[in-house]
Amino acid sequence: MIDNNIDIKIDEIKAAFLNERDIKLLAVRLDLIHPVISGNKLFKLYYFIDDAIKLNKNTVVTMGGAYSNHLVATACYTKQLNLNSIGIIRGEEPKNTSATLKQCSEFGMKLIFVPRIDYQIELNEVIIQKINKISTNYIFIPEGGYDSKGAAGASIIMNNLQALNPSHICTAIGTATTLAGLIKSASPNQKVIGVPVIKGMTDIDERLTYLLGSNHYEPPIIFNHFDFGGYARHTNELINFMNDFYGNFNIPLDFVYTGKMFYAIFDKIKNNFFPKGSTIALLHTGGLQGNQSLPMNTLIF
Ligand SMILES: *Cc1c(COP(=O)(O)O)cnc(C)c1O
Repeated sequence: MIDNNIDIKIDEIKAAFLNERDIKLLAVRLDLIHPVISGNKLFKLYYFIDDAIKLNKNTVVTMGGAYSNHLVATACYTKQLNLNSIGIIRGEEPKNTSATLKQCSEFGMKLIFVPRIDYQIELNEVIIQKINKISTNYIFIPEGGYDSKGAAGASIIMNNLQALNPSHICTAIGTATTLAGLIKSASPNQKVIGVPVIKGMTDIDERLTYLLGSNHYEPPIIFNHFDFGGYARHTNELINFMNDFYGNFNIPLDFVYTGKMFYAIFDKIKNNFFPKGSTIALLHTGGLQGNQSLPMNTLIF
């Protein structure tokens, strides 16, 4: 289980362009906590799983797409805890199941495929009936842990970074649950930065209000236009950046989230967005299993 003193590896990224600007850049290696229950997902699950155990529920139900890091993290974590899991999958069952869903099944997750028209990020009657055929003693986790409980879990990440005294903390944004967690426990002198990986994401404020239960929060800095064509899309420029980054710093990134966020921060540093003396913490939120959906030999790692 996680707590406020989890051992998180921090890698300092050293390069001339950082020295010149007197900037300290830290990669927070949440990806190394566990090979499957990677990065931010473990934290977002924390209070949901806590509930399942306290309420004596033997099954955890959650939802996601065929490449969801959240699904596979939930499947693996519940198996470790001897809980059953059910995944509600967006879309009809494909002929060739994704590597992610295969892994979910290997961890014992029962998969229910729901046509896109019936799929919402909350449970509806159609879906509930399907779940009840498998279990009636479950807790439900919304897609991506998008809930105040998910944000509360993600805030534990921030508690574990305070010793580094970062001036800026950066994360990729999917549902914005991790972003909300960082905002929740950042100090007033710390800036939280988010990089959306979805094209044209315009509802971040509404999301944060929902997740934090109020619209009284310190607004984050959002770096837009680093989605590289949209969710799970990529360009050669992104892939080249990830390969160079691995070559220089020996840190693998994923192409859906962390590759885009690290790219954005490098770009903003080079354009002198950050003041001299900044200590910037970049959350490596994991997600490396997602790289399996790229063609072979795209990445050098
Ligand atoms: C899910 C995920 C995110 C996005 O987190 P949200 O809390 O949904 O915004 C970021 N990075 C990685 C690697 C992820 O798998």
